[in-house]
Amino acid sequence: MFASKLVCTKCGEEYSSACGVYKCRKCGSPLDVRYHYEDIAEVIQDNDPWFREHPHMWKYWMFLPVSNLRKVVTLNEGGTRLYRVKRLEEKLGISMLYVKNEGENPTGAFKDRGSSVEITKALEFHARRVIVASTGNMAASISAYGAKAGLDVTIVVPEGTPEGKLLQARMYGAKVEVFGKTYDEALAEAERRATEEGYYLTGNYHFRVEGQKTTGFEIIDQLHFKVPDWIIVPIGAGTHLRAIWKGLKEFQRVGLIDELPRIAGVQIEGYDAIVRAWETGKPVERITEKVPTIASAIAVKKPVDGENVIRAVRESDGHLGTVTNEETLKAGMLLGREGLFVEPSSATALALARKMREEGIIESGDSVVVVATGHGLKDTDTWNRVIQS
Ligand SMILES: [Zn+2]
Repeated sequence: MFASKLVCTKCGEEYSSACGVYKCRKCGSPLDVRYHYEDIAEVIQDNDPWFREHPHMWKYWMFLPVSNLRKVVTLNEGGTRLYRVKRLEEKLGISMLYVKNEGENPTGAFKDRGSSVEITKALEFHARRVIVASTGNMAASISAYGAKAGLDVTIVVPEGTPEGKLLQARMYGAKVEVFGKTYDEALAEAERRATEEGYYLTGNYHFRVEGQKTTGFEIIDQLHFKVPDWIIVPIGAGTHLRAIWKGLKEFQRVGLIDELPRIAGVQIEGYDAIVRAWETGKPVERITEKVPTIASAIAVKKPVDGENVIRAVRESDGHLGTVTNEETLKAGMLLGREGLFVEPSSATALALARKMREEGIIESGDSVVVVATGHGLKDTDTWNRVIQS
């Protein structure tokens, strides 16, 4: 394993990579996994078979914090296709436009990359029971990987969570427990039980980041190590965008790429805590209003990786924007006409690409990759209403 240590993203406090901590004990901020990058560079350098290998998540094992590759818990996550969408290129006036279709993952969402790493780590730490607070895609994903590993999985959800969203988790055999009125209360309960009752805590923590960064690795690999001008990512907690940016910098550090793309993040109207902070220069504040949304998977009031997203966007000279429900639904319909059925939250990335092109932020000669995070069958209610209206 090339992982060397854990470092706090805010105060810089360091921890051993074998430490079971899930956030900084000093300041409560997210942690980052660091590696011996010179050793990774040596493994990759002039390694022709490695370069020829088809892109898939565990091809990048040297960038993942796993002690024993034979003990990886996998359902064949990653290796999702990158689609060039030529009719949309013409419609939007962008010379190269691609969709990274994360809905092709085993449970239908990008979360499976992170879950594979998190559940593998749970086994390394000799856990028997894992816990996660979630109302949707994360719950389904952790439940599937927990089942594969033979672990007991408990999902903590707030009151009023629609049963439909928990169906997948129940099918994978997870125990669903209702606690509190909001996601934040459910999360606090999951963290309390991890600390006091010995559950292994999963969710938007540093080991998940490591799995999620492989979305970025695959995009670069699938473009034959040519870096696109833009990568556009939907933001819920912000962990996926933070992870993709971390991975790209690691690719640069070991000499796989010379330059970096610009990163854009998109939030749905009413849940734009990060965009507000970006525009005002203030810290990321919790959204207090309750606004109806079609993009429930990214309707997060206090994104845990908000500050890390802003840092990534600033470093990459990127962009942050908000799109409306209507713009998102239109973008989803356009993707459907390309043969790609995505959940509403995923369509936000194309909606923002369209806006950025209209505003001249994306230029006509640019190459753009939009990340579609989940399959359309994840949220058929919303699309049914659109089709019927
Ligand atoms: Zn700290």
